[in-house]
Amino acid sequence: MTKNVLVLPGDGIGPEIVTEAVKVLGTLNLDIEIDSALIGGAAVDITGNPLPEETLVKARAADAILLGAVGGPKWDANPMEQRPEKGLLGIRSQLELFANLRPAILYPQLAEASTLKPEVVSGLDILIVRELTGGIYFGQPRGIRTLENGEREGYNTYVYSESEIRRIGRQAFEAAQKRGKRLCSIDKSNVLEVTVLWKEVMEELAKDYPDVELTHMLVDNAAMQLVRAPKQFDVMVTGNMFGDILSDAAAMLTGSIGMLPSASLDENGKGMYEPCHGSAPDIAGQGKANPLATILSVAMMLRYSLNELAAADRIEQAVEKVLDQGLRTADIMSEGCTLVSTEEMGEAVVAAL
Ligand code: NAD
Repeated sequence: MTKNVLVLPGDGIGPEIVTEAVKVLGTLNLDIEIDSALIGGAAVDITGNPLPEETLVKARAADAILLGAVGGPKWDANPMEQRPEKGLLGIRSQLELFANLRPAILYPQLAEASTLKPEVVSGLDILIVRELTGGIYFGQPRGIRTLENGEREGYNTYVYSESEIRRIGRQAFEAAQKRGKRLCSIDKSNVLEVTVLWKEVMEELAKDYPDVELTHMLVDNAAMQLVRAPKQFDVMVTGNMFGDILSDAAAMLTGSIGMLPSASLDENGKGMYEPCHGSAPDIAGQGKANPLATILSVAMMLRYSLNELAAADRIEQAVEKVLDQGLRTADIMSEGCTLVSTEEMGEAVVAAL
């Protein structure tokens, strides 16, 4: 059956990197139809709305969505409702994309880009599964109040229901099944009751996934282990706040923001795929952007939403091949390599395929 992919190029380098990613997708000769729509600043300019109704309708109908990036100085002074970021947060919440999957992969060819010693990070391949629509970032009540003694007090609520934990847990177990079959659940169960429940639900779920080995780690230790010996992990699953922090730390182990894809999935495996970086207005329109994070996001899309596992592997192997050939965009350039433009990098991946 034909699958539908909606492409949202967005702003800044978004259209440049998405063009290359779409070329790569087209090379695979899969039964996929591609449509595109406006989001972010580009949508504000034409419709006055960062998430036009037409985009949302197309997004709901699509099997998967590929996003470039949104934002830029042109719209920074806009009122909140007309800010590009509002479009991004809007589409994530409207589609209930509660599971954020962020791999941190360090290709051996780029080991020097990391601030950690090459032997600690070379060959790193971990996946962080972060709950994206619940936890302390959304819990009620929240606010800043003035107490009777006149002192101000800030407060938030850290809350997860069993069903919220269960659905992110299932995504993580299933992701682990597709990889190294090891899942580490991150909590703070020595202090926070919410994560005592988190841990219990993960244990219950483990019975449904006997092929996956489940372990638990406290978040403070996890932060330490990520910089001490990150290769010990396969898949990590955690709540919104811990995941926010740990996934950025993990991303930086690789040292190169232009290489990192991400996925945000709903309950049925439908997802939005995007590079971890932003719209890089400083290099937009200059052919300098690294398209590999977006191309690798296409690989994630094929693996997690379109069930084309072999095609996903092919893209990842093609990316490895161009790195082996010594081709580099400016952000990952090192001595002895060949500097290429955004388009040349995309063409090289197509050729490698
Ligand atoms: P950024 O990720 O856009 O850029 C940070 C630095 O990394 C810049 O020097 C940029 O040139 C470089 N960079 C980023 N992607 C690159 C790539 N593919 N190839 C080569 N170099 C790359 O972050 P920022 O500068 O903080 O934000 C710029 C705009 O992007 C802002 O408007 C911000 O709100 C927006 N933003 C959007 C998203 C998103 O759409 N998901 C995420 C983060 C930031």
